[in-house]
Amino acid sequence: MSHNDFSTLPLNDALVANLVGLGYQSMTAIQAQSLPPILAGKDVIAQGKTGSGKTAAFGLGLLHHLDVKQFRIQALVLCPTRELADQVASEIRKLARAIHNIKVLTLCGGMPFGPQVGSLEHGAHIIVGTPGRVDDHLRRGTLQLNHLRTLVLDEADRMLDMGFSEVIDGIIQQTPASRQTLMFSATFPAEIEAIARRVMQNPERVEVKAGH
Ligand code: ADP
Ligand code: MG
Repeated sequence: MSHNDFSTLPLNDALVANLVGLGYQSMTAIQAQSLPPILAGKDVIAQGKTGSGKTAAFGLGLLHHLDVKQFRIQALVLCPTRELADQVASEIRKLARAIHNIKVLTLCGGMPFGPQVGSLEHGAHIIVGTPGRVDDHLRRGTLQLNHLRTLVLDEADRMLDMGFSEVIDGIIQQTPASRQTLMFSATFPAEIEAIARRVMQNPERVEVKAGH
């Protein structure tokens, strides 16, 4: 057993067994560095280049902290674009195969509201979406985040470049202060530091320069 085996983590055995089925033999560098503090419930800012495996780092973290028996929204992942949100939702569904009846819902702009509202009425454990549309649902009262445990800002640098900073602040105000906040980014501009100061509690910093 190498020190980079997923089985060294305090993760549910079924989640680890499913990773083997996905062909994930060992943790990537960013997973090995960020998963211990994430599983311990800390706020984490992680920087790593594209393809370093950031999705599974926060995906396993939010699944670890989720209680499938409580059918309400416990995790929210904000992504800059619909394409990225779809990719993240698909990866989380794969990681969650070991957990029965997990409901992952995407809420992105450019899609009609009606079906999203219908899906929200049916309920979900995890929302993956773009900031604008998630904010729209909060304002309309079709989405509540008062039971949120994990908030993930994925590709945070791109979301800031796209001008989502204030919208994200507004969304965060609708979440419990007790939540865990995870921020993932390929670069680390000064605005990221400013957001971290506003929305995170004593965050652990993880930086991986090389790929795997
Ligand atoms: P990032 O968000 O850092 O750009 P992704 O999370 O999209 O990277 O992961 C890139 C690719 O690596 C995906 O195809 C994913 O399935 C794969 N991957 C992630 N973690 C592992 C792992 N531990 N072992 C093998 N492949 C992995
Ligand atoms: Mg990514």
